[in-house]
Amino acid sequence: MHPADGEVLVVLLDDKSLNAIGGNEPSRGQDAQLLERLFAMGANRVFFDRVYADPTDLHEDRKLVAAFERHRGKVFVGALPQILQNDGSVVDLLPHPRFRSSVEIVSLEGQEAPFGLSASFPVKTSILGAKRRSLSAELARLEEGEGFYRPDFAIDYATIPTISYIDALNGDGFRDAVDGRDVVVAPSSHTSNDFHPMPYRWAVKKVPGVYFHVLGAETLKRGLPTNFGWLPIFFFACVIVVAQARIKRPSTRYTLLAGASFLVAPFVLDGVNISVDVMPGVICFLIASIRLQRLARNTYYGATGLQRIETMHESKMIAAKDVFALKIRNFAIISASLTPLQVEQLLQKALLMLRATNPDPQVAFHKDTFVWTRPKSMLTDAQGHLKGLHAIFRTSITIGAHAPDVATSLGLDRSYEASMRERTQNAIQSAEDAARAGEIFRVSETQIPEDRNWHLQILSELEHAILNGEVEVAFQPKVSLSTLAIVGAEALLRWTHPTRGPINPAEIIAIAEAHSRMDKITNFVLNRALSQTRLAIARDPSFMIAINISALDLHDPLFPFVVEQNLAAHRIPASNIVLEITETAQIYDEGSVALTLSALKKIGVQLSIDDFGTGHATLEHLRRIPADEVKIDQSFVMGMEASDENWMLVKTSIEMIHSLGRRAVAEGVENQTIMTMLREMGCDEAQGYHFSKPITMQALVPKLSWGAAAA
Ligand code: C2E
Ligand code: MG
Ligand code: MG
Repeated sequence: MHPADGEVLVVLLDDKSLNAIGGNEPSRGQDAQLLERLFAMGANRVFFDRVYADPTDLHEDRKLVAAFERHRGKVFVGALPQILQNDGSVVDLLPHPRFRSSVEIVSLEGQEAPFGLSASFPVKTSILGAKRRSLSAELARLEEGEGFYRPDFAIDYATIPTISYIDALNGDGFRDAVDGRDVVVAPSSHTSNDFHPMPYRWAVKKVPGVYFHVLGAETLKRGLPTNFGWLPIFFFACVIVVAQARIKRPSTRYTLLAGASFLVAPFVLDGVNISVDVMPGVICFLIASIRLQRLARNTYYGATGLQRIETMHESKMIAAKDVFALKIRNFAIISASLTPLQVEQLLQKALLMLRATNPDPQVAFHKDTFVWTRPKSMLTDAQGHLKGLHAIFRTSITIGAHAPDVATSLGLDRSYEASMRERTQNAIQSAEDAARAGEIFRVSETQIPEDRNWHLQILSELEHAILNGEVEVAFQPKVSLSTLAIVGAEALLRWTHPTRGPINPAEIIAIAEAHSRMDKITNFVLNRALSQTRLAIARDPSFMIAINISALDLHDPLFPFVVEQNLAAHRIPASNIVLEITETAQIYDEGSVALTLSALKKIGVQLSIDDFGTGHATLEHLRRIPADEVKIDQSFVMGMEASDENWMLVKTSIEMIHSLGRRAVAEGVENQTIMTMLREMGCDEAQGYHFSKPITMQALVPKLSWGAAAA
């Protein structure tokens, strides 16, 4: 705000003047008298901020015309083109022909912006067939220019010199105020409606229109402002909104910065005489920014690109997808030891790992759990995915110098009929159940009746199948990595159903375990495998037959006797068999299992920990289990070539296994490269398609070297 330059004097026809005169307006004679007085006091030019559209008493009007003529060229009256009447018609409001020829005409046109935020004036207006300057342009004697401009509202209108009509009419006392100035005579009484809100001066109600003209005149004296209109700021607002919409989380800092600059811009530009309209841009920007922020808050978790769980509910084609959940069990503890930024990094790393293994990149996060979908797959494949992720999370997350011990439990939902909301909840619940039970993962599937029937059917058919010889045992060779000779074989269940074809052994085992029918299977496999192993041992007395047993078998205190009986029945030394136990945490913690394990050791059989790396077994567990051998899970071995992390994991596993004095066996060796890597790492034995798929004993025996034990 700064004061006016004071070059224009305002003479207000205010209530005080009207009271003194008596009536609603002065007579034309009084106006004429005022003119004389003003010029007598040295006025430069005199402007009437009114139109004189109507004639009054002829005698009075003539007095005014005479005064106009005496000061021809120095007196101006207004005209207002294109005034909208109450009846809707548009007329020009012009001085009455009686006055028109003896006086100059200026335009009083002006435009008020909505909410009194601004006002603007034309430089020129076309009136009576000629371009007439506006009152302000005439006051400023502006020669050039077109269009509308905005007065500088930083000039304090209250400092514009002002006197009352009646004071100017009556006395000589205002000579100093009038002398050498342009004077504008304007209405300001309560009968006038020429009042307007003054921008940025909301404390004062409305201000007589004349002051706007005077502000305009002072503005124009500095030069006609260039008016850029609303487009430039609107355009910038759009650019920023588009930029913000492209990133995951709109930056609050930039939003505030841009918003502030939009509000400051008109003031700064005003200083260099440029006018812009900010409101359309600011309003568009405000709405878009709030909307974007809200959308981001509802959609994404922090800046990680992780979505909110709710956004998963809109996933499409869910019937063709498996829904996974990964819960970081110790998330609270880990995040307590990290800064918020590090927590964000942790989430980002986790996201990268999930993305690396997942073609469908949408990953949501909720509290401590990630949720994502993958195209529907075989249960065993999905389980492989779960096991792999579990191991990767446990070993490969580092944040700066920290290597937090990220413990995960996973859930998988396969109830394809349900809604996405139910399915994400199922998956999260499964992950939570798994965490509570100390398991790596749990699968939830609302068993469709067909499924449940299939389970019962399979169990009832299994017994017949065993009797009918549909169930067989295949043998997959285990190879010594130092000699590359076959040193043993793993017995694997094979069932070829007459109508359904080959049935996945993992599925049979899962169903049998769920219905506590494992003993039948274990017994069958033991019996069948041992009976055939006689051939192999005859050729190579050191041949080791590996038999998978279930955790349920270990809960049976009679299980060691079952093993002993089978060994005796087939006359196989206990030292030729190794029992493979899949590692799960609870087994090792239960006393009865420990007893069974030591009973088995007493018989003289060897123990092996199967699928190592996918379970919860800690080093401490490994130490306590009296195992002779540890089999590194095939998911890591297969991944060794492609991933440094898997390579590292296998290498450290082998070192750890050796440090405990156990034999290291790698499963899932599918090619020469991996075999060479394993040999370099000092792995003892390997098993995999590279050497042989599971085959019959008849096919296997010829491959054995004679009397390898003697060699
Ligand atoms: P496992 O004990 O880890 O057996 C190894 C599995 O990996 C076998 O699958 C085998 O065919 C497969 N495999 C071996 N080498 C390779 C390779 O190079 N590449 C690939 N992709 N796979 C390879 P299978 O026969 O389908 O058995 C699956 C699981 O079912 C077994 O995993 C075991 O946990 C269970 N299982 C099989 N037979 C029995 C059994 O008689 N009793 C029990 N309790 N479980 C069994
Ligand atoms: Mg096995
Ligand atoms: Mg295995």
